[in-house]
Amino acid sequence: MEDRAVMKIPMTSLQFGDEEIRSSFEALTAAQKAQFLALHEGHRSVNTRLARISNANAFGIHNDASYLYLDVSRINHSCCPNAAVGEIADAMQILAIRPIEKGEEIFISYHSMMTGMTRQQRQNYLHWSYGFNCDCAVCSRKGREGQLSDARRRIINALTASVQGYQPSDFSPYDGPTHEENIPRHSFLLAGVLEAEGLMDRSVARAYNNAATILIGLMYEHKDIYILPAALYVRQWMEKSIAVVCEVCGATSPELLEIALGNNAALKADASVCAVAGAVLDPAVCVT
Ligand SMILES: [Zn+2]
Repeated sequence: MEDRAVMKIPMTSLQFGDEEIRSSFEALTAAQKAQFLALHEGHRSVNTRLARISNANAFGIHNDASYLYLDVSRINHSCCPNAAVGEIADAMQILAIRPIEKGEEIFISYHSMMTGMTRQQRQNYLHWSYGFNCDCAVCSRKGREGQLSDARRRIINALTASVQGYQPSDFSPYDGPTHEENIPRHSFLLAGVLEAEGLMDRSVARAYNNAATILIGLMYEHKDIYILPAALYVRQWMEKSIAVVCEVCGATSPELLEIALGNNAALKADASVCAVAGAVLDPAVCVT
C-alpha cells in the first residue's frame, strides 16, 4: 500500500509553529480537512488542536519539514508489528512483514528505537509521545513470558549498540579477542534474538547481512584461518538475509536486488575468501 503525503509542514524554527501547521491545513480539500480532524489528537500541551493532531500523526523530519499521511496515520501501533513503513519521496509505503490474514488488523511500530525497549520503557514512551497505553500482543505477555520478552529486548538493545559501534557489550561466552571480531558475532546474535522475539523485518535481514559482510571483510583483511570456523556460516547468513528480505519486501523488490547484488559482490571481492567460504560449505572442493 502507498499513501501520498497531504501536508508538508515546514520547520522554520526549532519547533513547528502554529502558523505553518494552519497554512498547511488550509491548503487541504474539505474532505481531507474532515479526515485530518478525525485523527487521534494526542495530549501534548501545545496550543491548538491542529498542532496536537499534527504532533501525534506527522512523520519524521526530512529537509526541515514533517509529512502527514491521512491513511497511514490511522494505522495502530504494535510492539510486534505485522507491517513496516518505507518512505519514497513524499509517499509512505506500508509493507507486510509477514502473511496477514483477510480481516486481520495491520500494525506498524511507531518508532524503531522501541525494538530495544522493555515493556515499561515502551509504555512510558508511547504514553509521553502519543497519550496511550499499549496493549499489543507483546505488552500483554504475562509472568515468565513477559520477563523473557523484556530480557530479549535488553539483549537486542545491547547488541544493537555494539553492532553500531556505540557501546561494546559484554557477551563474554560469545566474544572474540577484539571488538572488531565481536561485531559479526553480535550481529548474528542480534538476528537470532530478533527472530526469537517475533520481530521478523528488515532489521533481521540487515543483521544477518551485516554479520556475513563484516566477516568477509575480516577474512579478506587478515587472510588468516583463526576465524575459519565462522566462515562456515557466511553463505548461510547471506542466504538467510536474502530469504528474509524476499519474504518481507517481495521477490522483485529493489531491496532484495540490492542485498543480493551486495552479497554477491562481497563474495566475489576476493577469490581466496570465496574459495575458503566455498570450500567450507562444500567439502567436496575443500583443500586441506
Ligand atoms: Zn506493545
